[in-house]
Amino acid sequence: MSKVMIKKVAVLGAGVMGAQIAAHCINARVPVILFDLPGKDDQSRNTLVQRALENLKKLSPAPLAQSHQADLIEVANFEDDLHKLLEADLIIEAIAERMDWKHALYKKITAHIAPHAIFATNTSGLSITELATGINDDLRSRFCGVHFFNPPRYMHLVELIPTAATHASILDQLESFLVTTLGKGVVRAMDTPNFIANRVGVFGMLAIMHEAEKFGLSYELVDDLTGAKLGRAKSGTFRTADVVGLDTLGHVIRTMQDKLPDDPFHAVYATPAVLEKLITDGHVGQKSGAGFYKKVGKDILRYDAVKHDYVASSGKVDELIGRILKEKDPAKRLKSLRESTHHQAQFLWAIFRDSFHYIAVHLESIADTARDIDFALRWGFGWKQGPFELWQLAGWQQVAQWVKQDIDEGHALSNAPLPAWVFDGRSAVHTESGSWSPAKKIYIARSELPVYQRQIFRASLVGDVAPTGATAGTTVHEDASVRLWHQDDDVLILSFKTKLHVMGPEVIAGVERAVTEAEHNFRSLVIWQADSAEGGAFSAGADLQAMLPVFMSGGLKAIDHVVANFQRAMMRVKYANVPVVAAVGGIALGGGCELVMHASRRVALLESYIGLVEVGVGLMPAGGGLKEIALRSAREAKGNDILQFLKNRFTAAATAAVSKSAPEAKRMGYLSRGDVIVLNPYELLHVAKTQALALADAGYRPPIASLVSVTGRYGIATIRAQLINMRDGGFISAHDEHIATLIADAVCGGDIDPGSQVSEQWLLDKERKGFMELLAHPKTQERIMGMLQTGKPVRN
Ligand code: NAD
Repeated sequence: MSKVMIKKVAVLGAGVMGAQIAAHCINARVPVILFDLPGKDDQSRNTLVQRALENLKKLSPAPLAQSHQADLIEVANFEDDLHKLLEADLIIEAIAERMDWKHALYKKITAHIAPHAIFATNTSGLSITELATGINDDLRSRFCGVHFFNPPRYMHLVELIPTAATHASILDQLESFLVTTLGKGVVRAMDTPNFIANRVGVFGMLAIMHEAEKFGLSYELVDDLTGAKLGRAKSGTFRTADVVGLDTLGHVIRTMQDKLPDDPFHAVYATPAVLEKLITDGHVGQKSGAGFYKKVGKDILRYDAVKHDYVASSGKVDELIGRILKEKDPAKRLKSLRESTHHQAQFLWAIFRDSFHYIAVHLESIADTARDIDFALRWGFGWKQGPFELWQLAGWQQVAQWVKQDIDEGHALSNAPLPAWVFDGRSAVHTESGSWSPAKKIYIARSELPVYQRQIFRASLVGDVAPTGATAGTTVHEDASVRLWHQDDDVLILSFKTKLHVMGPEVIAGVERAVTEAEHNFRSLVIWQADSAEGGAFSAGADLQAMLPVFMSGGLKAIDHVVANFQRAMMRVKYANVPVVAAVGGIALGGGCELVMHASRRVALLESYIGLVEVGVGLMPAGGGLKEIALRSAREAKGNDILQFLKNRFTAAATAAVSKSAPEAKRMGYLSRGDVIVLNPYELLHVAKTQALALADAGYRPPIASLVSVTGRYGIATIRAQLINMRDGGFISAHDEHIATLIADAVCGGDIDPGSQVSEQWLLDKERKGFMELLAHPKTQERIMGMLQTGKPVRN
C-alpha cells in the first residue's frame, strides 16, 4: 500500500472529544473539517458545530493554543456536506457511544471516503472489530481505533487499536502522524473492553473506592492519599472522577461489567452504590456543579452517602504515613506500608496490591508487553511511574510473595492466582533487551518505526540501561550547575542542572563557557534541558536563593556585578560566532525568557510558557529583555511611530504576562516568526540540533551591532500618563507604578530626545540601573522575601 500523506483531517462529531481533537489538529497546523448532525429546520444547518467552536474558545484548560483559531476549523454537517469528506486523508469518528448510531453513520459515509483515506474511531468502550462489521472489506483494511484521552491537547496518550483486518502499513502511517504531527505518545492496544489505560486505570479507581469503604476513609482523605503523594494526578481519585464526569466514568465501568463476565475481578466491576445514586440524581461531577464534591461559596463540601447531602469535609493524612510516602526506596516504602498497623497504611498497601494483582493476571490478554501498561498509565492517567515499574523497583520476587500471601489469605479483591511467569525466577519485566510479553514469552524491544529516530532519547522506563539525556554523550565540562556535552557531531549542547533550571552565577558562567567552547570546537550550540520531555522547565529565571549569599557578603555592589555578568553572557549568546539555538519547553521566565530572546533561533514545544515576570517580585527585567523589546519595536516600526510597536510588549513586561502556548509567545514577541514549533517533546532535541546545523551550513553570521532609535522622553511621558490613570483608578499600586515607570524608562531609552540613536549597551545600562534601584527599595525586598518564603507573589 502506498504511503498516505495526511494533509487534511475530518472529525465526525463535535462533542467533548471531537471538537477538541479538531482543535488540536489546528494546534498542529493540520487543516480540519468538523462534522455533526444538521441543525433543526429553524436553525442554521451547522449550528451544532458552530456552538462547539464557541465552546472551544471558553473551555479550560484551553484546547486551542490560540483561541481565535477556532475559526480555522471548517464546519460541516452530515446531510449537506458529505462530499467534503473526500478531501480528508484521515477521518476520526467521535460521535456518541452507541454501536447502532455509529454503524448507521458508517453506512451513510462509506461512499464518500477517499480510496486511500484512513478511517478511525475514537470509541472508548465499543469493540473495534464489531464496529468494523459495519463497513465494507476495502475500508475495513483501513479502519482502526484511535483512542485519545481528554483533554486531547494535554494528554500525551493515544491508544491505537487494530482489528485482524487492519493493514499494518495503515497503523504505521497513523502512528507516525500521531507521534510527530500531533505530538502524542502511542501505545498499541488489543481490542479488549476499554483497551489498556481505562481498563487498568478505572479498575484502580474502583479498587480504591472498595478499599476506602473497607477501611472507612473519607473521600478527601483518599484523595490526599492517592494524589501527588503517590506521584499521581493532584486531584486524587474522587475529585478526578468529578472532573472526568461521573456519567462518563459510569459508562466505562458498565462496559467492563457487561463485557467481562468471566473476569476473575468481575465483582469489582459493579458500579458502587454511591456512584449510582449520584448519577441518578444528576450529580455527575464538575460539569453539573456537584458530584462527590460540591463547591458552595468558598467551601468544598463532600457528599455524605448516609445523609444523602453535602457536608463539610475533613480528614488528614497521618504524619507517619506522610513520612513513609516520602521514603525514596520503593522496597522500604512498600514494606513499611504493608507492615504498619495504621489503617491509612493498610489502605495504601491494599490498593498497590490490588493493582499489582490485576496487571499480572491481565497483562497477557490486554497488552503486548508490560511496557504498554506502564506507558498507558503514565501518559493517560498522569502517573509518574507505571505499576510494573514500581513493582520491579521494589523487588520483583518479594512483592510477588506479598501479593500471593494476601491472595492466599483472602485479603485480595479476587482469588485468581498470580500467573506462573511471575514466579519463574525473574527479577524484572523490563530488561535491557525489552519488555516482557507473557503471550509470546519473550522480551520485546521498542518499536523501530522510523518516526522514533527523531527521538534522540525515548521515554525512559525502569530497567533501561541506555544513558539518559542527563548522562549521554561525551561531557566537555560539568559542574554542579551545568553540563556541556556532545554526541560526536558538530553541536555542543548546554544543559542546566539546577532545580527548575534557575540561573545563578555558576549557570551564567556556564553559558559564557558554552559559547567560548562552541566557537572554538563546534559549529553550533544548542541549549536543551534533559527533563524537557517530562514537563521540565526551560528555566524559571534568576536564582533568587543563590543571590542571597551574594547579597549578604557583597551587598548591592556584588549583585550589580552579577547582573552585569548576566548581561554580558546574553550578549555573548547573541553575538556568538556560531548559531545558538534555544530548545524551549515548559516555563521560560524572567532571565530564562531573556536567554530565549538572545538566541539565534528558537525551537519551542507547543507547551511553552514564556514571559518577563520580574515585576512579580518587585523587580524589572535586566538581562537584555527590555533592550530587545526596544530594538525589535524600532526595527518593526521602520520609521513609523515606534510607540505603536512598543505598546503591547511594554504591557506584557509591566504586567508579567506569560504566554499560554508557543504560538502565543510568537504573538507577544518572545518567539520570532521564523522560530520552529514542535508538538512532541521527545523530538525537541532532534529538531533543535537539525536547526542549529542548518544555520551553520547556511553560513551563519551573527547580527552586526547597530544603533537603535528610541522614543525617549516622548515615549516615557505617554506611558506615564496611562500609568498615573491606572494608579489613581486603583488598578495598580504606587509601587507597581514605580516599577512600570522604570521599565518605560528602559524601553524608551531614558530622558532623551525622541528619535535618538542609542547603543545596546546604553539600553542595558538603563535596565541595570533600574533593577538596582528597585532592589534597594523596601517594597521590592518585601516582595522578594515573600516569594522566597511562601512561593507566592506579595501585592504591595
Ligand atoms: P459527546 O456526547 O460530547 O458528543 C457526541 C457528538 O455526537 C455530539 O456532538 C452529537 O451531536 C453527535 N451525535 C450524537 N448522535 C449522533 C448520531 N446518531 N449521528 C451522528 N452524530 C451524533 O461525546 P464525547 O464525549 O465527545 O464522545 C465521543 C466519542 O469519544 C465516544 O465514542 C466516546 O466513547 C469517546 N471518548 C470520550 C472521551 C471522554 O472523556 N468524553 C474520551 C475518549 C473517548
